[in-house]
Amino acid sequence: MSEWSKSDWRSKPRIQMPDYTDTAALEAVTAQLSKYPPLVFAGEARRLKAHLGAASRGEAFLLQGGDCAEAFDQFSADSIRDTFKVMLQMAMVLTFGAKVPVIKVGRMAGQFAKPRSAPTEVIDGVELPSYRGDIINGLEFTPEARIPDPAKMLQAYTQAAATLNLLRAFSTGGFADMNRVHSWTLGFTDTEDAAKYAEIANRIQDTIDFMGAAGINSKTTHEFSTVEFYTSHESLLLEYEEALTRIDTTSGKWLAGSGHMIWIGDRTRQPDGAHVEYARGVQNPIGLKCGPTTTADDLKVLMSKLNPENEAGRLTLIARFGAGSVGDHLPRLIKAVQEEGANVLWTCDAMHGNTIKSSSGYKTRPFESVLREVREFFAVHQAEGTVPGGVHFEMTGQDVTECTGGVRAVSDEDLSDRYHTACDPRLNASQSLELAFLVAEELTA
Ligand code: PEP
Ligand code: MN
Repeated sequence: MSEWSKSDWRSKPRIQMPDYTDTAALEAVTAQLSKYPPLVFAGEARRLKAHLGAASRGEAFLLQGGDCAEAFDQFSADSIRDTFKVMLQMAMVLTFGAKVPVIKVGRMAGQFAKPRSAPTEVIDGVELPSYRGDIINGLEFTPEARIPDPAKMLQAYTQAAATLNLLRAFSTGGFADMNRVHSWTLGFTDTEDAAKYAEIANRIQDTIDFMGAAGINSKTTHEFSTVEFYTSHESLLLEYEEALTRIDTTSGKWLAGSGHMIWIGDRTRQPDGAHVEYARGVQNPIGLKCGPTTTADDLKVLMSKLNPENEAGRLTLIARFGAGSVGDHLPRLIKAVQEEGANVLWTCDAMHGNTIKSSSGYKTRPFESVLREVREFFAVHQAEGTVPGGVHFEMTGQDVTECTGGVRAVSDEDLSDRYHTACDPRLNASQSLELAFLVAEELTA
């Protein structure tokens, strides 16, 4: 690894990145970012890696979730708090189901850059460059807003730092106390499913009460009052990543200082491309999206490039095939992993293969499809004798109407009520929690 340098990606084919026209401004911004402190420290990334290694052996379970894209104008303490809270609630339900620790990783504090399916977008006959996330350009449909502006990297850094600061405060400052977190806000109705969730919720409550009576509570037990919460994002805008790449003086290895875990998207996983070149050189845990077009041969090359020492917890394969397609793809990729004897953690992104256009015109994801993909993921691992080690969701703690379905059914017509995402549709708080109950059921099965 010694021959790797943080700018080597520049000599590789780059896609899904903006061509900045103002190169002087770009250089000034990256020079400034290079002087700013990293957002995370190497010891934390190593600790997360050890946890993910445990998950790859079935000794822990990964819950990764958050916005598709964080947005400058939706930045608020309340929205951070709400997403953090619903993730803790989901984690509690999952812990109860899996009977192993749940590793909590937010798509937060850095999830600003977006790959797009087309470079331009046409509305009413007007064609403009696509929106690529607030770290790159603006969502507003005007020629000015769509020009990539390097200064946005500084705003993204500031927002990420403030988000992480609040997450750290919530994690250890009393907010994460188990006795505060378990208020189930699903708004259960009288359906059969709802009764099932209520039963699990009651059993968790009973367990907490029992332990409390036995003197095990947040006052006596550190684990009951604090949580470890990690951050992650797609490592897409490599100028930003490079500027925050630092040497870890303890290990002498490089660290992506922008977040604890970074991942490579389904569109940028070319084995000889810039994104793989960057990720291979940093010691953070790396995620790799695997979609229907991932070939076994590519996966083998990627595993050896990204995890040459076959370290447990280094590489998380995030399967995102779409409901109805998991059985067509996951077995062949599991086979490739087995042929290489590779250590990987398998998780299920049940969002990105299930995006459709609703009858009302909105981009949405039916809750049923999300759930079905999760079930298929578990079934394939069960059949193959491998470990389903985690789940990956686009979700928010807010009461949005972006995905259809769920116990408090959101219909196609409801989508317009509170459709706030800057990019892909997210599960709302109630849908997220419902899903956690259903995943817990899979884990107990
Ligand atoms: C994402 O996670 O937001 C994303 C774009 O996913 P994928 O690369 O799997 O399409
Ligand atoms: Mn997305």
